[in-house]
Amino acid sequence: MSKLRFATKQKVIELGLAFLDGAGAGHVCKVCIASGGSCCQSCIFLKEGAGCQKRNTSCTAWLCGFLKYILYEAGMLHDWEAFWEQVPGQKFREDETPPFFPVDRWLDAPDVVFLSQAFVEDLNMLLPSRNMLWIHELKETLDRYVDKIMDSGDPETVRKVEKKIDYMMADFRHFRTALERLA
Ligand code: SF4
Ligand code: SF4
Repeated sequence: MSKLRFATKQKVIELGLAFLDGAGAGHVCKVCIASGGSCCQSCIFLKEGAGCQKRNTSCTAWLCGFLKYILYEAGMLHDWEAFWEQVPGQKFREDETPPFFPVDRWLDAPDVVFLSQAFVEDLNMLLPSRNMLWIHELKETLDRYVDKIMDSGDPETVRKVEKKIDYMMADFRHFRTALERLA
């Protein structure tokens, strides 16, 4: 059982960013942004060439379909979500998170950059043969499917959705091989 302790807003943001870094999120973002899919698009806190000027708990905790899927397959999504559920005041592109608040679980950064690198290798390989919207549709569909799994307590629903995901992601062979390294 974890012990209750106090976290600061800054600390949870740092832990979140370190976690995403350890999961190799930056590799996926690079391809996504180049394809026009940045989740920061049109945000008033985004400064050209300098990035986010108002890093908050909400955007740090939020995962797009790609990152959600990678963490789900790596068995890390439950820990990620449980950690952020403790952090109050999350909103859209800003937060009202207080400077201090109690938490009973911490977040250890993983060492699985190779998973995202393999995912990106597959994305880059498939992109030229797909239509322009494919990457965005894939991201949205993964988001929907993984949410359905996470929200469902029914093993049969989970099995069916996982089957759909496996079918949809059948061409992501480098990623599949990389996942085997976790076993
Ligand atoms: S949508 Fe996902 S992959 Fe794209 S920039 Fe945002 S976090 Fe990165
Ligand atoms: S506030 Fe959020 S959406 Fe806006 S630039 Fe920062 S990370 Fe991106």
